[in-house]
Amino acid sequence: MPITPTKKIWMNGELVDWDDATIHILNPTLHYGWGVFEGIRAYATPEGPAIFRLTDHIRRLFRSAKIYLLEPDFTVEEIIAATKETVRVNELDACYIRPLMYLGYGEMGLNPLPSRTHVAIAVWPWGAYLGDEAIAAGCRAITSNWQHIDQNSIPPTGKGTGQYVNSSLAKVMALKAGYDEAILLNPAGKVVQGSGENIFVVQGRTVVTPPIQDGLLEGITRDSAMQIARDLGYEVLERSLVRTDLYHADEAFFTGTAAEIVPIAEVDDRKVGAGGRGPVTKDIQSTFHRATLREESRYKDWAELTRE
Ligand code: PMP
Repeated sequence: MPITPTKKIWMNGELVDWDDATIHILNPTLHYGWGVFEGIRAYATPEGPAIFRLTDHIRRLFRSAKIYLLEPDFTVEEIIAATKETVRVNELDACYIRPLMYLGYGEMGLNPLPSRTHVAIAVWPWGAYLGDEAIAAGCRAITSNWQHIDQNSIPPTGKGTGQYVNSSLAKVMALKAGYDEAILLNPAGKVVQGSGENIFVVQGRTVVTPPIQDGLLEGITRDSAMQIARDLGYEVLERSLVRTDLYHADEAFFTGTAAEIVPIAEVDDRKVGAGGRGPVTKDIQSTFHRATLREESRYKDWAELTRE
């Protein structure tokens, strides 16, 4: 997806011009992938841009930082304020937000500890990650032959920059084979998640998603979808899934900040249910959509306004 430049990027407490937000070629994060990041969306509402579950995203950023022993000079509250400020100064109604913690220039080698932790926040307009059509028609997914990273290799509960080579290998394989998205399995053969999304299946009125212990990122859209599904009267279970559970499900869908809620029409060339967007997915998806726009009073707290 091409990036559309905006005006300013927040770097270590200062707003710098988009083109000046650069790092040195010998920055160690570029070489060894030791960094953490977040992906957040702001939605256009009548009260101005509202950032969806901003506090939860920034808390997760700091949890990821803890895993990687990164020690930013800023607090959670300061990064929340800086994120709102970055959205404001760029004068966007809706955007994608990318906070990043990375190592400073000056040291090289596999020990990241002597390096300072830097923080940057960039925002730019971004459309539907899996395409506008997929929101209604669903996407085609394939089980990847790249195994998902596990707790004993690279901790999947953090959002470390380096771990995304695993996601990208799976994504590229899926795209080259003619599919829209990859589904990764853990070393035990359990379904973990898409390359950048959590996964759900629907059986009757029961909505099932794999548990954190199976090695997935604790997605904020996942959490929102689980709460919405419960509130809509569905039974919600966190239970391990194997590949054939996807084939036999009535419905399946992905959740993620970039993708939002996208039905899975096919897995490994097998139709899931009727092979499009099922009624339960549609129900959860439309409530989620209204929640992002602050149109659902019970979820109004989720979307944080940026105006001062
Ligand atoms: N899994 C992976 C691997 C991801 O990269 C993402 C996107 N952050 C998700 C799940 C979904 O998480 P969230 O809903 O918090 O964006």
